[in-house]
Amino acid sequence: MALSEIDQPSHGNARRISILGATGSIGKSTTDLIRRNRERFDVVALTANRKAEELAALAIEFDAELAVVADPDAYPALREALAGTQTEAAVGHEALTQAAGVDADLIVAGIVGAAGLDSTMAALGQGSLVALANKESLVCAGDLVLAEMQASGARLLPLDSEHNAIFQVFESENAGDVEKLILTASGGPFRTRSRAQMAAATPDQAVAHPNWDMGHKISVDSATMMNKGLELIEAAYLFPVAAEDIEVLVHPQSVVHSMVAYVDGSVLAQLGPPDMRVPIAHALAWPARMESAVTRLDLAAVGSLEFSAPDDERFPAIPLARAALMAGRGATVILNAANEVAVESFLDARIGFLDIAETVARVLDRVEGFEIASLEDFRSLDRESREIAKNLVKSVS
Ligand code: NAD
Ligand code: MG
Repeated sequence: MALSEIDQPSHGNARRISILGATGSIGKSTTDLIRRNRERFDVVALTANRKAEELAALAIEFDAELAVVADPDAYPALREALAGTQTEAAVGHEALTQAAGVDADLIVAGIVGAAGLDSTMAALGQGSLVALANKESLVCAGDLVLAEMQASGARLLPLDSEHNAIFQVFESENAGDVEKLILTASGGPFRTRSRAQMAAATPDQAVAHPNWDMGHKISVDSATMMNKGLELIEAAYLFPVAAEDIEVLVHPQSVVHSMVAYVDGSVLAQLGPPDMRVPIAHALAWPARMESAVTRLDLAAVGSLEFSAPDDERFPAIPLARAALMAGRGATVILNAANEVAVESFLDARIGFLDIAETVARVLDRVEGFEIASLEDFRSLDRESREIAKNLVKSVS
């Protein structure tokens, strides 16, 4: 069966759903929700990078039409595990992009990093609902992503807990009366650490997030607070609010997921337990609601909620990201590429924790940006930035 023959019309009331990055943290939270609400969903396509057995098990469990691994080395195992089943197996970056384009009512974009951009674009190209966890798509090519969305009539539903919170309390009809957006940040595992302590931080310490259980890359981003920097950029694309009117507030309990302040002095917030199944359930059922098995928020048990301004000296990633957003001319592409290289190098113990933001700052200084008018523009700036970042890492390690 060819990929193009898989297109089928929606049947019954079940929502046809595809999950890009099905084996990751976002993917697992999504499949958990589907498992508990089987009658509401028909699984179309599932993708992974290289965890073939895990992907095949999910494809069999949910009777998916298509399963794709990006890494060619993982393909034999996928094909073998799916032999004799109804699920088509495919491999490679192109197949992954095609999987995102197979007709579905809702596509979860849960791949990590700029590697998710092409599939996010393909998902948007179908003109359906795209539940976006892959914030790097907006950081790398926000203008192109929004243009694709407008051209196809697709709709982006933010999965990132902060942006999902804002989406839930943002009154579109009163968009002109929004004074500011307030993104909350847990502060990560090093919220109270000194620079000297952070200098000695190990990868294991950095990925041990106090409130959220996430993939390694975003966990390190939370430790440096680059995650909040990327989210600042994400918010600037998702909501019609000027970049200077988007603030960050440290809130260690991760109960208030973000806020919208209006001109009359009202501040609307969305609260919930720190469990990604809450924003994911919101998007999966949108505009309705569905049951999720999360532990309910018990405010009496939480006791008190604290808020403080972020410390730009200890966490320079936030000002770096804000400056890149303001600079334009592809600066956020450079920021993201340098950060991906630096985080991977840190996880491989080739550079220290503080070298991550330092590397990003140095690459931003060295690479001349330009307007990103096409995916080709993005690829070329991304490639150049990664090369410079890799050379800097070599000189440090
Ligand atoms: P993860 O590392 O747990 O999972 C990533 C998924 O993407 C896996 O299925 C993996 O197989 C796939 N993948 C990785 N590299 C790939 C490649 N080169 N090509 C194709 N597929 C590839 O990551 P995660 O924590 O689930 O995060 C996914 C995205 O969601 C990130 O953009 C992250 O910032 C965002 N996000 C995650 C959380 C969370 O709680 N995990 C919260 C908010 C936002
Ligand atoms: Mg978030």
